[in-house]
Amino acid sequence: MTARLKQIPKHSIIPVMLLLLAIGSVWGLPRFYPEGLRAIPVLPPLLIGVGLILSLSFNRSRFTLIQLTLLIAWLAHDAQWGGHRTLPTFLLNAWVIFNFALISLFRDRGLFSVHGALRLSLLFAEINITLYALHYASEPLARWAVWQLFPLGWLQAWWQWPQTLLWLLCVSALVVFIKFLFSLRHIEAGLLGALTAFVLAINHTGNPYWYDLLMAGAALILCVAILLDSYHMAYRDELTGIPARRALNQHLLSLGSRYTIAMLDVDHFKKFNDTHGHDVGDQVLKMVAHHIVQVKGGGKGFRYGGEEFTIVFAGKDMKQAAPHLEAVREAIGSYQMVMRAKDRPEGKDGKKQRGASSNKSQTLSVTISIGMAERGGDLKQPEEVIKAADQALYRAKKKGRNCLSQ
Ligand code: GH3
Ligand code: MG
Ligand code: MG
Repeated sequence: MTARLKQIPKHSIIPVMLLLLAIGSVWGLPRFYPEGLRAIPVLPPLLIGVGLILSLSFNRSRFTLIQLTLLIAWLAHDAQWGGHRTLPTFLLNAWVIFNFALISLFRDRGLFSVHGALRLSLLFAEINITLYALHYASEPLARWAVWQLFPLGWLQAWWQWPQTLLWLLCVSALVVFIKFLFSLRHIEAGLLGALTAFVLAINHTGNPYWYDLLMAGAALILCVAILLDSYHMAYRDELTGIPARRALNQHLLSLGSRYTIAMLDVDHFKKFNDTHGHDVGDQVLKMVAHHIVQVKGGGKGFRYGGEEFTIVFAGKDMKQAAPHLEAVREAIGSYQMVMRAKDRPEGKDGKKQRGASSNKSQTLSVTISIGMAERGGDLKQPEEVIKAADQALYRAKKKGRNCLSQ
């Protein structure tokens, strides 16, 4: 869990910066670029429109739904519902805040599918239920809306809406935050950032540009999140979460005249898979990848494909890289993976193969072989260095595995 908590700043820095940009432009625009003020009212629909185009092109139903929610909120606000603390505006804001939590719980299953159609219908149904309740039950709703749990002091003075909306916000923000913590994806960080921007937007400061700029900020945070998430998907390996082959190719282009490349391969992995099952094999690959990206000495780790990995040391020769590669090899070789009985593969009769009758856990370990090569002599291009490292890897295997060869 602490490892997850440490990842929070990395994922939240961009939403936080965009949020600060939106808040900063509320004061900055009138002072430094007053001509731009006329464009402010079109920013929210423009950015929401861009977000809708992005989410439709990437077939991301969750993004389409949240951008639609923001669009409806902005349109209703523009129709003079908002700005005033009326029951319809209260319900509108409650609906938006609720949708953030609901949509964060959905899985992205594509828009042009049964799931997408169902979700769009759900959005439509929510709007209808809200309008119906407003028409037929406005009195009890109005009484419920102003219900207070306890006095909130300065917080109530800052929060311009009834307490009920604040409690709903706390629950929704918690749901979105937990989802973010468990997925650690840009998409969830974007949802959290956009929810914050929306909540700030509805808490007016009296500045005439506040609402529109914060709503534009919410839409922009979502647009950037979908782009970052797509970038991440293209450059990260799905199983292990470390940079993938495409990222390696990109990295190779940035190398100078001195570098070392190492190819790493798990020993007897086919046999390991056959004995322990593919799922356990996958867990081992995650463990190996985890050690590979922890490499010291300025090395950068990638999953090359299958059970093969690559480490690139920019600006280092083989002599300098070798101790760090040995450290990775030893760390992996000495790591004992604890397998509980339930992790073990099932036999034909559906029973766990080993230790099924007992709850004892079993420890497993693997070794890796490494081949390395540096730029120099005949080896000029990164592809040539990789090939030479591959041949060195072959020699390491021949030498008896669990060793480094050059
Ligand atoms: P060597 O020591 O010579 O490298 O032997 P090896 O068995 O590791 O080599 P080989 O290349 O024959 O086998 C690689 C195996 O890696 C085959 C495949 O089952 C397994 N593998 C490749 N990708 C994955 C994956 O994503 N998950 C799992 N569980 N296994 C994988
Ligand atoms: Mg292999
Ligand atoms: Mg292998």
